[in-house]
Parts: sequence; C-alpha cells; structure tokens
Amino acid sequence: MAKYVFVTGGVVSGLGKGITASSIALLLKSRGYKVFMQKFDPYINVDPGTMNPIQHGEVFVTYDGCETDLDLGHYERFIDEELNYTSNITSGKIYKSVIDKERHGDYLGATVQMVPHITNEIKNKVYEAGNSSNADIVITEIGGTVGDIESQSFLESLRQIQYEKGSENTFFVHCTLIPYIYGSNELKTKPTQNSVRDLRNMGIRPDALVCRTPYETSVHIKEKISLFCNVPIKNVIDSVDVKNIYEIPLKYYEQKIDEIILEQFKLPKRTAKLDYWKKLINTIDNLKETVEISLVGKYVELHDAYLSVVESLRHAGYKYNVKININWVDSEELESIQDIDSVLKNTQGIIVPGGFGTRGTEGKIKAIKYARENDIPFLGICLGMQLAVIEFARDVCGIEKASSTEFDPTVKDPVIDLMADQKSVVNIGGTLRLGNYECTLKENTLAYKYYKQDKILERHRHRYEFNNKYRKILEDHGMVFSGINEKANLVEIIELPQLKHFIACQFHPEFKSRPTRPHPLFASFIKASKENK
Ligand code: GLN
Repeated sequence: MAKYVFVTGGVVSGLGKGITASSIALLLKSRGYKVFMQKFDPYINVDPGTMNPIQHGEVFVTYDGCETDLDLGHYERFIDEELNYTSNITSGKIYKSVIDKERHGDYLGATVQMVPHITNEIKNKVYEAGNSSNADIVITEIGGTVGDIESQSFLESLRQIQYEKGSENTFFVHCTLIPYIYGSNELKTKPTQNSVRDLRNMGIRPDALVCRTPYETSVHIKEKISLFCNVPIKNVIDSVDVKNIYEIPLKYYEQKIDEIILEQFKLPKRTAKLDYWKKLINTIDNLKETVEISLVGKYVELHDAYLSVVESLRHAGYKYNVKININWVDSEELESIQDIDSVLKNTQGIIVPGGFGTRGTEGKIKAIKYARENDIPFLGICLGMQLAVIEFARDVCGIEKASSTEFDPTVKDPVIDLMADQKSVVNIGGTLRLGNYECTLKENTLAYKYYKQDKILERHRHRYEFNNKYRKILEDHGMVFSGINEKANLVEIIELPQLKHFIACQFHPEFKSRPTRPHPLFASFIKASKENK
C-alpha cells in the first residue's frame, strides 16, 4: 500500500510548492523508492486547457493526453517519471464526476453533499493515484493557499486521510514564507505562525514546515517556529532563494527532509544516490559561453507561458556547456517593426513555439522568413511549424494566399487545415489531438541524425495539420518531410536541408526534455546556434 506526502502552502502563492514537492519526490526516489506525483488544482475548470496562457502559464501535456498544470512539467523534469491522467485533479473534474454520478442515479436517493460526496471523490483520486501507479510513495501538491474558499474541500479530504491512515502513512509538508523586514533588518515568523494556525483550524497538523526565506534562519528563529507551530525543530526546513531551481533537492537533502519522512513512515532509509544530480549542478555552475536565442511568441509577457520550452533550451545548454540568454520577442509588436535587424541581429538561433489564434502570427512569419533568409538556426514547434510551412509556401513556392483555416476559414490556399476528425468537434475543452502519437523518421535527415532511430513517440496538442495536397509542390521547392505519422498520414516534421539548421515539428518536444537528458531537437538546435557566432 502506498504512503502519502501532502504539500500545502500558506501566506502567499508562488512560494515554489511545486519545486518543493518535486524535490522531495526526487530525494525519495534517489533512495530507491518508487514515487508518483499528483497535483490538486482548486479552480472549477475541468482542466487548464481552455485557459489563457497569459493568466495561467503553459499547459503541460502528459503522454496519455491530459492537459495539465505546468507544475507537472517540474515534476516530470525532477523525477523523470511519466505522469498521467490521475496526476492532475481540479475541482471541475471532481464536481463533474459527482454530478454525472448523481444524474446516473448512483447515490441511491441520498442528498448529495460536500461532505461526504465531494470529499470521498477527492480521497478516491488520491488513492487511485497510489493504487494505479504501484508507487511506494505518492506526493500530492495542493494548489492555492490555505484559507482560499476553493481549497476547503480538498483540505477537508486531507484531514480525513490524515485521520484514517495515521501518521505512519501520511506526512504533511506546509510551505510558508519568512519575510525579511528592511529597517528593523530581521526575519519575521508571524506569517508562518498564522498560516499554520489556519491549517490547524482545518484540522490538519503539519509534520514539517518548509520556510521560504531570503536568508538562512537562525536556531533562535527555528525554535520560535517550532514552539508556536508544534513542529520539531529539525522539521523546520529552510528554503533559501537559489540561482537555479535544480539546486533545491540538494538543499533539502542537507537538512534531511527525506530522512525525516522515511523515519515517520518507518521505512528503511537506504543510501541516497545523488551523484548524477550533483554532477548536473556542477555543470550548471560552470557554464562557459552564452548563446542568445530569440523566442518569438505572443504570450511573452508571462514567461511561464513558455516554461517547458525555456527549460528545454537550458537543458540543451547544459549538454553543450552554454548559458542560454533569451531575447523575448513579442510577435505582435514585430509586425509593425520596419527594421527587424534591430530586434534579431545578435541572435544565434530563433525559436517559434506553439500558440493559438491569428494575433501575432504575421510577426512570427516575419521572424521565420528572417531565419530562413539569413540561415539562422531555427526550431518551430506546433504553430511554429505551421507558420514555417505558410512562409515557405508564400515566399518560396509563390502561393501568395497560403494560410491556415485557423486564421481564415475561407482562405484560398489552406496549406494548414483542420484535421478531418476535428470537423465535427463542438466542445473546445479536451478535444484537441492530444498526447502520444508515433512518428516515423526518414533516413539522412537532420531529425534522424539527432534521434538516431526511425520510430519516435512524441506528445501533441493541436487541431490543425499540414494539408497533404500541398506536399508535392513544397517538396519540389526543397522542403523535406522528415517525420510522418504513417497511420494517419500526417506531417510531423519538416526541414530545409539546404540551410544549416531549419527544422520544425507538429508535436511538442519540450514536454520530454529532462535536465540530464535534453531532447534531441533542442540539443541539435542549441548546438547549431552555438556554432552560429
Ligand atoms: N493552433 C494550432 C493548432 O491548433 C497550433 C497549436 C499549438 O501550437 N499547440 O493546430
């Protein structure tokens, strides 16, 4: 039977609960335990797929096609395990399932209530993650902060789990903030005390506190927190601000958080195998050159909208010993800029990631044209591939009116068109082509050179596709279709072999990159960009 670690947060949002949960999971895995992770998001959307990336950040996609919170990206990058549909549960999913059961008559005449029906549903999701993953330990993060109206039903469910399973099977980590007050020049513990009191009001007793703080805390501060919060002093863990999030597991390791958890679970400690992670941190600390990459997108005002893309660029940088400097280019602004050189002239590589809708697409096309005409290494992802096709069709093949039916349903030359099985789709949520699909690579192409295999599995999130009616004419002008989904005859990768590095894919490679194992397409892109001085 699995044991459960719950990570809650208080005082403010944005404390890095997701990184804390991931770091704990990494440490437990390093001691030979099979771990699995899960996130509860209290909002009413069934999933974040319909949310604006500028508000919510990127949508992360699991291999089985779930659109999830971006924290799942951190989880996968830290623990290097593939998560699935049991890993991201929202209030929307819980309510929907309870209401569906009620309509189906499953509650046999009962009045359906918050407690026990909603809370039972939540508890079942926790146990389902444990049972279906076969994990020794499941780490569940609760989104939001204690005290939020939306998170009450989740906390009530955790209270019941803590009571039912007991402290040998559950461990509660509460993340708080210790602010530094300038003037009096001291760290303050009161917000932490108040937040723990709020958690206790919900009936939950934290086993450890992870305190985000700008400076290491003194024994005196820890004693005070321990006294007011009923947590042993060694279970008050500092989370001091770091340069790089990947350092955090090692910081927690020094403070023995994993040992504290295993002791409470009465599980053997075993030796932590962390050499590979220490080596990674050493690499990150000693990166030599800097490579400038221009990221052209319409959600650039919130960098989290491209979180996995940025992480993937960095991972590739670790492989080639370079720091990545990102030039954030707003694609909509680029549309009206005459002197594109002023924006892109120092760039060593251009990346155009995914996106939806018309706004900013002509700016992205402008950047792609610039990459093609100046032979600057280019990587296009999803919408980035579709726009590279449009640019090539217009400027190289002379198909002036080439576009996507996403931007203009009546376009004369739909080089990108709605997929056949999307034509009958009515609901927007959860109906894109999602998750893993196989792709076959053509030999003697850039893709084949870096993947070093002919069958690959990649994650998708799109509704439109390359229109095969235009394959011949584009091919005749030099475009190579190096990756194809053979079952559905869908174009997955395009390349321009006459250039140093021009490649774009319909899928999202950024979801499969890991800090110690960069994705082949990002690796090849950063290598070419590094060489492009
Ligand atoms: N909007 C495009 C489509 O739906 C691309 C999607 C994306 O970039 N994720 O096909």
